[in-house]
Amino acid sequence: DERLVEAGNRSDDFDEVSLRPKRFDEYIGQSKAKGNLTVFIEAAKRRKEALDHVLLYGPPGLGKTTLASIISLEMGVNLRITSGPAIEKAGDLAAILTNLGTHDVLFIDEIHRLNRSVEEILYPAMEDYALDIIIGKGPSARSIRLDLPKFTLIGATTRAGLLTAPLRDRFGVINKLEMYTSEELKEIVIRSAGILNIGLDQEGAYEIARRSRGTPRIANRLLKRVRDFAQVKGSGVIELELAKHALDALEVDEIGLDGVDRNMLLSIINKFGGGPVGLDTLAASIGEESGTIEDVYEPYLIQLGFINKTPRGRMATKNAYAHFGLEYDG
Ligand code: ADP
Repeated sequence: DERLVEAGNRSDDFDEVSLRPKRFDEYIGQSKAKGNLTVFIEAAKRRKEALDHVLLYGPPGLGKTTLASIISLEMGVNLRITSGPAIEKAGDLAAILTNLGTHDVLFIDEIHRLNRSVEEILYPAMEDYALDIIIGKGPSARSIRLDLPKFTLIGATTRAGLLTAPLRDRFGVINKLEMYTSEELKEIVIRSAGILNIGLDQEGAYEIARRSRGTPRIANRLLKRVRDFAQVKGSGVIELELAKHALDALEVDEIGLDGVDRNMLLSIINKFGGGPVGLDTLAASIGEESGTIEDVYEPYLIQLGFINKTPRGRMATKNAYAHFGLEYDG
């Protein structure tokens, strides 16, 4: 069962590619990352060099893949997209690297999930644009070095701390992507509605934005679901009342929480006296993986100030109690 407010990719995100901004001026928000990257790209272009390797980290759906594609377009080079789990053997990565063109961008999503032997190929590739291959077996084995084209690696991960230190150290540019404000998400919703030819007004757009958990991918998805309601139950145009009605029916509450969030928060409150409760214990109690809680469920709840991370575990805050109309006894 997929969550409607899942931040990762879902099967119904098929038109994500058409909604993806192609240039920095269409890419809303993230002004810090955008500002830095614009300078580095301009400098690399003037020196006629490849852009330095870039690490992007932050929760899913915030625009890491989009940023990689904008960078390659601005640099005027090709983009090759792959992911950590998709590269199984050292030879798979070697094949990808030797097929890159000069200054091309290689995007590796979930780069923290590369296996060790693959990761070790990356070190000389990133540092010296070289590939070390072992020829022969046993005592007669020897290593030869092949030159690679100068390229840019863009790695994406949910948390920078998931990377090994030697890999992290080889990125010259490290950018954290932030959750978007409701105002920024409103702009994104209006832009997407224009592309998809959906009628909506300012208040309708804002209502979708504030229930989108700070995440553009979720905003675009909710927009498409709300459109269905507008066409079947409304005038075809998304305005405030229609948006509220649709999102309530979809069980996404006024601040973007769904059943999974409510279950998790109420577990902390009811089963563990408000916490602190250890991540693994909490995960077991709601039947989820602790990694999923940490990378996907929890960031938005922390952003809202509903959960505090303490050395002894997760605690529900006063705000969380208030959201459920429960009394907080500290
Ligand atoms: P990630 O790689 O971080 O999971 P994506 O780059 O795939 O996220 O972004 C998901 C979708 O959200 C994109 O298809 C795009 O339509 C939209 N999006 C992301 N960031 C922005 C942005 N800054 N402005 C407008 N749309 C965005």
